[in-house]
Amino acid sequence: MLKNNLGYPRIGAQRQLKKACEQYWAGKTGREALSGVARQLQEEHWKLQLQAGIDLIPCNDFSYYDHVLDMSLLLGAIPERYTPVVTDVKGNTETDLYFAMARGYQRDGLDITAMEMTKWFDTNYHYIVPEFTAGQQFRLFSNKVFDAFSGARQVTGKIPKPVLIGPVSYLLLGKEKEAGFRKIDLISRLVPVYVELLNRLQSYGAGWVQLDEPFLAMDLDEAEKAAYEYAYREISRSCKGIKILLTTYFEGLRENASLAAGLPVSALHIDLVRAPEQLDAVLKTIPGSLSLSLGVVDGRNIWKNDYRSSLALIEKTVAAIGSERTMIAPSCSLLHTPFDLDLETDIPGEVKNWMAFARQKLQELDELYRIAAGETALLEANRLARESRRASARIHNPAVKARIAAMSEADARRHSGFDVRQPLQHKRFGLPRFPTTTIGSFPQTDDIRRLRAALKKGLLTPEQYDAEIEKATVEVIRWQEEAGLDVLVHGEYERNDMVEYFGEQLDGFLFTRNGWVQSYGSRCVKPPVIYGDVSRPGDMTVRWSRFAQSHTERPVKGMLTGPVTILQWSFVRDDQSRRETTNQIAFAIRDEVNALEKAGIGMIQIDEPAIREGLPLRREDRQNYLEWAVKSFRISAAGVQDETQIHTHMCYSEFNDIIEHIAAMDADVITIETSRSQMELLEAFAGFRYPNEIGPGVYDIHSPRVPSVAEMLGLLEKAAALLPAGNLWVNPDCGLKTRKWPETAAALENMVQAAREARRRV
Ligand code: GLN
Ligand code: ZN
Repeated sequence: MLKNNLGYPRIGAQRQLKKACEQYWAGKTGREALSGVARQLQEEHWKLQLQAGIDLIPCNDFSYYDHVLDMSLLLGAIPERYTPVVTDVKGNTETDLYFAMARGYQRDGLDITAMEMTKWFDTNYHYIVPEFTAGQQFRLFSNKVFDAFSGARQVTGKIPKPVLIGPVSYLLLGKEKEAGFRKIDLISRLVPVYVELLNRLQSYGAGWVQLDEPFLAMDLDEAEKAAYEYAYREISRSCKGIKILLTTYFEGLRENASLAAGLPVSALHIDLVRAPEQLDAVLKTIPGSLSLSLGVVDGRNIWKNDYRSSLALIEKTVAAIGSERTMIAPSCSLLHTPFDLDLETDIPGEVKNWMAFARQKLQELDELYRIAAGETALLEANRLARESRRASARIHNPAVKARIAAMSEADARRHSGFDVRQPLQHKRFGLPRFPTTTIGSFPQTDDIRRLRAALKKGLLTPEQYDAEIEKATVEVIRWQEEAGLDVLVHGEYERNDMVEYFGEQLDGFLFTRNGWVQSYGSRCVKPPVIYGDVSRPGDMTVRWSRFAQSHTERPVKGMLTGPVTILQWSFVRDDQSRRETTNQIAFAIRDEVNALEKAGIGMIQIDEPAIREGLPLRREDRQNYLEWAVKSFRISAAGVQDETQIHTHMCYSEFNDIIEHIAAMDADVITIETSRSQMELLEAFAGFRYPNEIGPGVYDIHSPRVPSVAEMLGLLEKAAALLPAGNLWVNPDCGLKTRKWPETAAALENMVQAAREARRRV
C-alpha cells in the first residue's frame, strides 16, 4: 500500500516565498535570490515528506505564483500581448514573462494588463485563468517540471511524482477570448503536447505522473466526457512507460464514476472526505488494472483524522482489490491547509490535540499505513483525542443548541412585508431620491495600520488606541457630511478584517499565529478556526456605531458581517453541518443587530460578499444550499422593527442564476458591484422585477481611477431605465479600505454631484 501525497503548501512555514517574491517585484533582489529561496523551500518540503515516509513524493507542485499559470507557460499558452516583455526589454527572462502574465507589466514603456484571476473551485485559492483563441497553438515552453523532477530526485534519492493539471481540466479552467470556437475542442491540439511532455518526463526517468482532473468530479456535458475518453486513450496509446495517476477532488464522481474508472490510466484518486459514499460505486466498476488512491485525510481543514473511519474505508478497499492496488492520500493537495501545527504556541493544549496541519497530516498517512499493517495501538491515542473533542465542554454550549433546536419559521421573517416597511422607513429617514452612501470602510491609511501594530506591541494602551480611532472616526464623519453624503458610515477603522473582527469577539472561534494559507500569488490569509458552538458574549460593534451616530444628525449605518461570509472565510467544524454552524452564527449576529437597534441605530448593513462563493460545485446541490444560506441571513436580520432599515452588500457580478434567492433575502436595501459590467447585470434584477431598494455600484473601487460626474450619471440613468427610480441608491461598488484618500475624495465628490444631477433629470 503506497503513501501518496498530492501536493504540499509552497509558501513556506515563515511565508518565505511571499517575502522573496515581493522583494523581487520591488526590484530589491535579483533572480538568483528568488530562485535560491524557491530551491530551498522545495528541498525542505521534499525532505519533510521523505522523512514522513511518503512513497509518492510530488514535484512541480511548487509554484512562484500559481500552478495553473505554470501550466500555461509549460504548454506555451502565452497570450500575444506579453511578447514585448521578452522581445523589447533587454535582460528580461522567462521569470519576468511569467510574472507579467500574473501581475501585468507597467514599465519600460510597456503597459500590459495581467491575466484574469478566479477562484479555484470552492476554495479560497485563486488561479490565473488560461486564455484561448480560435487559432490557439500549444508547444512545450518552460522547463520547470523537468528541473523539479531532477531536483526532487537528487534530494530524496527516490523517483518523484511530477504533478500536472490534466489536459481536459486545463482546458476547462480556461476562457475563450474570442468567439467562434469551444475551448473543449482544442483537446486534439493539446493532447500531442501532453504526449510529448509525458514521454520527455519518461526519458528523465519518471514512473508515476499525477494528472489532476478535478472536473471529473463536476457536472460534465457530452463533449467534455468525449474529450476525457479521447485524451486518455491517446495518452495511453502513445506514452507506454508512464503510469498515470488521475486525481479528482472537491466532489464525488457521482454519474461520472464509470467514465473515470474506465479511463486507461494506472490509478485513480478519489476524495473520500468530501464524498465517502463514492467508494462503493467506484469499487463496483473498477477494472482489474486500476489502482485506487483513497483521499482519506482532509486536505481542506485543520482537524485530526478519524482513524477508525479512515481505516474502515481502507480495509474495504483492500478487501476488494488488494493492498498492492491501494494507495492512501490526503483528499486533495495540502496547499489548502496551513503548514505546521507545532508552530502554534497560543492554542490551548486540549484544542491543539484535536488539530493537524499539513506536516501533521503527512504523519497521519504514515500512522494509517502502520495501523492497516497491524500496529493497532496507534488507534487508541487517536480515539482518545477524538473522544476528548467530542465530549469537551469547550465546544458544547447547551443554550446555543437549545436555541437552534427551538428555531421556527417566524425567526426568519420580518414583522411586515417590504411594501409595509418601505413607506415607514421613508417617513422615518426622509432621504432625498437617489440617496448617496458608501459600503462601509474608508481608506485604511498607514497611520491607522501603525496604530494597530503599536497596540499589538504594547506601545499603545487600549485606551490610547481607542482615542486615536475615535479621532479618525469623527474626522470621517465630518468629511462625509461636508461631501454631502446622505447616509454615513463610521469607516471601520477599528477593524483589521471583516471576519477576524467578529471571530475575535465571538465564542467558539480561535485564531492561529501562523496558520497561513495561500490565497493568490504572494497573498495569504489566516482563516479563523470555528471549533465550538458559536455565541456572542457581549456587544461587538455597538460602541463604535453609537459613537459615530452621536457625532451627526444624518443616519450612520451599523456595519456587520453576515453569517455565511463568516462561515465561508473560516476553517469550519467537521463534527456538524455547515448549515448548523451558520445558523449559530446567524443568531449571534441577530443579537448584535437587535442591540444596535436598541442603541438607536436605524440602518444596519449585514455584508454577505461570500454567499455566492459558497455555492456547491454540483448543480443539483445548489438549491438546498441557497435555501439555508438565505434563511440564515434572514435569521440574522429579522429581529428588528419595520422602521429599521436592513442593508446588505455583495461584491460580485454574476447574479442571473441566483437572483430569486437574493430577492428572498428580503434586505430593505442591497448594494452590489455593477460598474464593471456597465449596469448590465441590473437587467437580471429588472427581469425579475426585484422589489426592494438597490444601490448598483456606480464606480469600481478596485482601481485608483476617478470617474467623472457624467460617467456616473450615465450609469444612474441606465439603472433608472431598468428599475423604479424611487428604489435606487447611489454608492461605489465596494468598501474603500484599499484605496488612497485623494482618489476616494475626488470620486465620492463626483458621485454626490451625479446623484444631485440625477434627482433633477430623472
Ligand atoms: N463593509 C465592508 C467594507 O466596506 C465590505 C467589504 C466587502 O464587501 N468585501 O470594507
Ligand atoms: Zn464588497
